Amino acid sequence: MRLTVLGCAGSFPGPESPCSAYLVEADGFRLLVDFGSGSLSSLQRYVGLHAPDAILLTHLHCDHILDAVTYVVVRRYAPEGPYPALPVYAPAGAPDRLSAAYGDDGTVDDVYQFYALQPGTFPIGPFTVTVDRVNHPVETYGVRLEHDGRSLCYSSDTAPCDALLRLAQNADVFLCEASYLDGVDNPPDLHLTGREAGEMATKAAVGRLLLTHLVAAWGSEAHTLESAAGAYSGPLEVVRAGASYDI
Ligand SMILES: [Zn+2]
Ligand SMILES: [Zn+2]
Repeated sequence: MRLTVLGCAGSFPGPESPCSAYLVEADGFRLLVDFGSGSLSSLQRYVGLHAPDAILLTHLHCDHILDAVTYVVVRRYAPEGPYPALPVYAPAGAPDRLSAAYGDDGTVDDVYQFYALQPGTFPIGPFTVTVDRVNHPVETYGVRLEHDGRSLCYSSDTAPCDALLRLAQNADVFLCEASYLDGVDNPPDLHLTGREAGEMATKAAVGRLLLTHLVAAWGSEAHTLESAAGAYSGPLEVVRAGASYDI
């Protein structure tokens, strides 16, 4: 499978990247995981406006969903459209949230076919998908995608938790958030630091650690990378918008 980073900025768009959005492709099927602010630009630049065959939204924070609202226009009002409803796997509140954000007193059910996430394993296209609740203030799912013997785990937003360790176990690639700086007093049960991401990667024995969801305005990439490298000795990097990885 192939991972393309469309956006990786944590919490709000950064100067170099939109918010979280990751396109994962296998057998010609394209699953968009999260669709954060600004990532619709990257979708067009790196893949194509109508590339996604399905969408998975890990939680309903703005930095992971807002361009799914903007995308309603793309599907509904395309000159050659409207396009058929796109499958969206998301927390149960997604239809109301996206409709409210779109704001014309209607629904977005003509654009999206919603499936409510629950912990468990299920297929999306060629992928075997496992999701579980992670440690974040709203209903949030970490994700493991498997295809043809390869595996990708995406932390979504989370503080350290056992569910994430299970999802990441022996993953070939672990795409893990590292929002917070080490060495400062961070609020509990929200996000990981670089060191904590590294610790999770080591405990889960992953093949490669990709750090994401850094907050450029408040953090230090060098500091986060160094902290993670102190806790994980495998291949490690901070992802960038436009980067692609064969898994
Ligand atoms: Zn976030
Ligand atoms: Zn969040």
